[in-house]
Amino acid sequence: MKYVSTRDGNICVDSAQAILRGISKEGGLFVPDHFPKISLEFLEDLRGKSYLDRAVAVLSLYLTDFTQEELRRCVEGAYASGNFEGENPAPISVLSPDVYLLELWHGPTCAFKDMALQLLPYLMSQSNQKAGDGKTIVILVATSGDTGKAALEGFQDVAGTKILVFYPQKGVSAIQKLQMVTQRGENVGVAAVEGNFDDCQSQVKEIFTNPAILSRLEENGLTFSRANSINWGRLVPQIIYYISAYCDLVADEEIPLGEPVNICVPTGNFGNILAAYYAKQMGLPVSKLICASNENNVLTDFIRTGVYDRNRPFYLTTSPSMDILISSNLERLIFELTGRDHQLTAKRMDELKGAGRYSLTPEELKKMQEDFYGGFCTDAQVSQRIAHTFQQYSYVCDPHTAVALEVCDQYRQQTGDETRTIVASTASPFKFTSTVLGALGEPVPDNDFAQLNELSHVSGMPVPPSLAGLEHQPVRFDRTVSRAQMEQAVYNLLGLK
Ligand SMILES: *Cc1c(COP(=O)(O)O)cnc(C)c1O
Repeated sequence: MKYVSTRDGNICVDSAQAILRGISKEGGLFVPDHFPKISLEFLEDLRGKSYLDRAVAVLSLYLTDFTQEELRRCVEGAYASGNFEGENPAPISVLSPDVYLLELWHGPTCAFKDMALQLLPYLMSQSNQKAGDGKTIVILVATSGDTGKAALEGFQDVAGTKILVFYPQKGVSAIQKLQMVTQRGENVGVAAVEGNFDDCQSQVKEIFTNPAILSRLEENGLTFSRANSINWGRLVPQIIYYISAYCDLVADEEIPLGEPVNICVPTGNFGNILAAYYAKQMGLPVSKLICASNENNVLTDFIRTGVYDRNRPFYLTTSPSMDILISSNLERLIFELTGRDHQLTAKRMDELKGAGRYSLTPEELKKMQEDFYGGFCTDAQVSQRIAHTFQQYSYVCDPHTAVALEVCDQYRQQTGDETRTIVASTASPFKFTSTVLGALGEPVPDNDFAQLNELSHVSGMPVPPSLAGLEHQPVRFDRTVSRAQMEQAVYNLLGLK
């Protein structure tokens, strides 16, 4: 299988190159040149297998330049080395007779980014051996909190890689900061930057392209790479868990093999729901894909009208990982809707960059609506949904999952469609303790750790060990640098003089 750029049909690479490059040089995203098809026999065969076996089977359809042994090593490094609680990294919890929560937060940082960021480093390291120039990969991340920690956990001690994370001194929570400054691993570095996230991010972008820094790295056998959510190596791990979830439902006799399900996903960058769409393209029995947004409802409007318009107010909500006005992975859907027209996709993306707006044709809109439903909800509805879900099902969900449950309910009421639905649960409620405690009408202590204990008390769930132990971990990275000092900090953290 080859990978083409969404914006240029002449660019054609194999998966190792797509993963190493991350983004195509003219700005397009790499997509498989066709979707491998899976049959009911394929699903039947996976039904009795472990998550690891299922992962290898799905990956081998896409990463055809990897051997089975290579894929198995990658998958075992990601999912079988004690990084995830339990044997199945993505277990299902039955909420009600027709709603299943696919819990994607049993990894080291208690949120769904772990599912992809645990596997990506192994795929990158392996890709580098196949198609790289032998240099050590240096991942550089500017983070407003969660993604940085998930990347640190993923790359920790993966051979042939190093990772440096910069976070803004202002704007990360006490727990997020502790998670980063106590990070273990020989190949990791972390520093705080004076200022806010934008300061931090713009300087990281500058470092990425600064010729003096690049040549200094080259001389030392190092090369920059990125772990963005548009990297094919982050998308493909997400296809696995939808296929695995379906197999689990069949194995548990919740559904007969072949019966279609709906999938509802709390959406920001459109990566997670795109993976579900890809699974459907492959032949997984999926009926509707329900795209759930918070008040930043640019995707709801897009799915309802065919007009994508980022010119609108930006809201800070209680589901911050979905506070996004440009969903970068949507480009891959546009590519499919245009009948894989590279030029038209490029034109739309130009319009987005310029006027901040583009429209689908009526035919494209119709095609999208056959697969997708879009809905959104407010913070007040999220709060009510958290309370309602606890009262009715004794299940405590996080605010992002609550957005999905709320929109799933709206969809059912509006359409009467009662198809059984897999709802992606993207974070542990312990990641958002103050919102969850507030929604449940409980007191919200000032101290982050007191909040964890309070939520544990209310919910009867133990505090996840990775969060509970933080208070007592030794701090390894206590430096704060100015923007001007970041370049030197990169050298110091990489051990260059
Ligand atoms: C990143 C994230 C999302 C959004 O996922 P996308 O792939 O960006 O659409 C939803 N919930 C949580 C908790 C996240 O961290």
